[in-house]
Amino acid sequence: MIATPPVASSVPDPALGSGFVLKHHAAASCSVGAGLRSQLYRRYPRVTLCAPSPAPLASALRCAWFVQGTSAGKLSPPTSQTSLPELGTLPLDWIGGGGQPSRELSAAEDERECSPLPVEPAHWCYEIQAKEPNSHCQGPADWSGDCKKTHQSPINIDTTEAKVNPDLKPFTFIGYDQKKKWVVKNDGHSVKMMLADGSFIAGGDLPTQYQAVQLHLHWSQEFDRGSEHSIDGKHFAMEVHIVHEKGTSSSKGQDSKDKNAVLAFMVEVGDEMNQGFQPLVEALSHISKPDTNTTMKESCLQDMLPKKEKLVHYFRYLGSLTTPNCDETVVWTVFKEPIKLHKDQILKFSTELYYDEGKKLPMKDNVRPLQQLGNRQVFRSHAPGQLLSLPLTTLLVPTLTCLVTSFLQ
Ligand SMILES: [Zn+2]
Repeated sequence: MIATPPVASSVPDPALGSGFVLKHHAAASCSVGAGLRSQLYRRYPRVTLCAPSPAPLASALRCAWFVQGTSAGKLSPPTSQTSLPELGTLPLDWIGGGGQPSRELSAAEDERECSPLPVEPAHWCYEIQAKEPNSHCQGPADWSGDCKKTHQSPINIDTTEAKVNPDLKPFTFIGYDQKKKWVVKNDGHSVKMMLADGSFIAGGDLPTQYQAVQLHLHWSQEFDRGSEHSIDGKHFAMEVHIVHEKGTSSSKGQDSKDKNAVLAFMVEVGDEMNQGFQPLVEALSHISKPDTNTTMKESCLQDMLPKKEKLVHYFRYLGSLTTPNCDETVVWTVFKEPIKLHKDQILKFSTELYYDEGKKLPMKDNVRPLQQLGNRQVFRSHAPGQLLSLPLTTLLVPTLTCLVTSFLQ
């Protein structure tokens, strides 16, 4: 069963981080378990597993593990790309069980690790990454899952076509005034503040209360193309997304069209430093590389957003997540009033953050191209110039500053 082996080396090869290709060998015959596979994708986000069809690809994965575990294997080294390392130089810990003595897989291991599974697609990425030389990731045009469906996001919002819906009343923000030390991470696609703990929205014609889960951004170095949505054809410097989930944890698994509520805020250049954003901006230098995180200085969500009385103007439509698998489960709210950041604050995102471990590709243009509106209708909260018809309470509520929630710490 053991063919002429490439010998597994214990020396990790940093070159692997920039992407490599596994070529299958026709003699192999099964797949690696999901855990090992996701570990592979996490560790090498730009890897492409190259094979003519799903079954041989699964074989390649299994064989890579086999090579690692046994110091012998059935896999031929990559042949099409001479600059790529041979499989024999795979670091021993990259697919589990590093340093094991040479042996055949036991029947139980074979059952556990090599059960036939659907093959995951190549890792997704943005256009700017896909067009890098030697890149093997899938750019937006090749995204799979629901990304090819017809109710996708982002879209251009044509304000003259947006229909006034009187039910689109102001939101209630619950816990947005809590001052907290948020954990923020570079997830290889964006920068993400993890929010799950006591922040909710209600109102705004949502069927129920939604819990804030995370806040992330999209941006460019060019101030007119960093937003995902556009309004009357105009893109902004950045776009902030606060992702919420419906109801309680028990209903989270359900895939309804309104499972998520995402609040989208455009960001444009302002004259002053935005102090509400400073804790996030200052954290960026600690999370330059993908899969790293840090804790921000104390801050609250409310201080990052425009004043409450401005948040009564918004657009509403049903769409999707803007990253794979592009689930069509999102009630979108795109606010008219932009957040203003100083240009130095905006540029920090492109200069401090990187897509890759080797810090060669700055994280920017993490923006999905516009999608067709199709047969969908965009609604707006109310017609312009009707400010005085708002409930008095909306106008009179003062802008609260952050509350220190020391009892929660
Ligand atoms: Zn987003």
